[in-house]
Amino acid sequence: MPVQVAQVDVKTLVDGLNFAEKVDRSLGLIREAYEEYGDRLVVANSLGKDSCVVWDLAKRVSANIRGFIITTRFKPAETKQFMRETVARYPELQVFSNEVEIPDRLYETEPDRCCDLLKVEPTRQAIAEMNVSCWVTGLRCTEGRTRTDFQEIEERDPGLIKLNPILIWYEREIWQYLALHQVPVNPLYALGYRSLGCAPCTHITSDPDERAGRWIGTSKCGGECGIHTRPLQADYQI
Ligand code: SF4
Repeated sequence: MPVQVAQVDVKTLVDGLNFAEKVDRSLGLIREAYEEYGDRLVVANSLGKDSCVVWDLAKRVSANIRGFIITTRFKPAETKQFMRETVARYPELQVFSNEVEIPDRLYETEPDRCCDLLKVEPTRQAIAEMNVSCWVTGLRCTEGRTRTDFQEIEERDPGLIKLNPILIWYEREIWQYLALHQVPVNPLYALGYRSLGCAPCTHITSDPDERAGRWIGTSKCGGECGIHTRPLQADYQI
């Protein structure tokens, strides 16, 4: 059956399914999409805890599923090291970045522009170069205020399916899965970080909002880098 974009009552699923049912549902979503898109299905692996779950689920569906990592010059050393280890283990992960010259401290003065250049642009490049028709993300609707309005299967860009197979998982279920399956994670989590990004824009907080430590002190606080909200067509002009 073709993968269909559909409006699902996401909130009911978040509390209505238990952990094992969510794992089954996520595996089913990836499996169905992989049966339809094959090699044109690609996982966006941010190297965060949620991506580690999605990547592990995808590998359970097929060892052949490919992925991409977007990195920037501002990623913490621990994340860069974790990336090297992950790519060594999974050479089917391709790394993309944008090395364009940008003004000093653009992340403070214009964080949206900085993310557009360093994160969204290489995502467009990855989707174009890897010939992607369906990209798979680790987005979760319980992560914070900017993530409540998503569906498991979406088509935000015409012709490009976006699959969010763990959309309905709680943060604790992510850790449950990682522990049960002994999936390695970025060592920064051991220091107290709950959501990881570039070093200047990522902080440890005690705020209940999982993404509250992102872009503190800017208009973008707790927000989005743009890969989930900006157009991803390769010819889009930023
Ligand atoms: S997270 Fe911060 S440093 Fe990284 S691209 Fe966005 S604004 Fe720039």
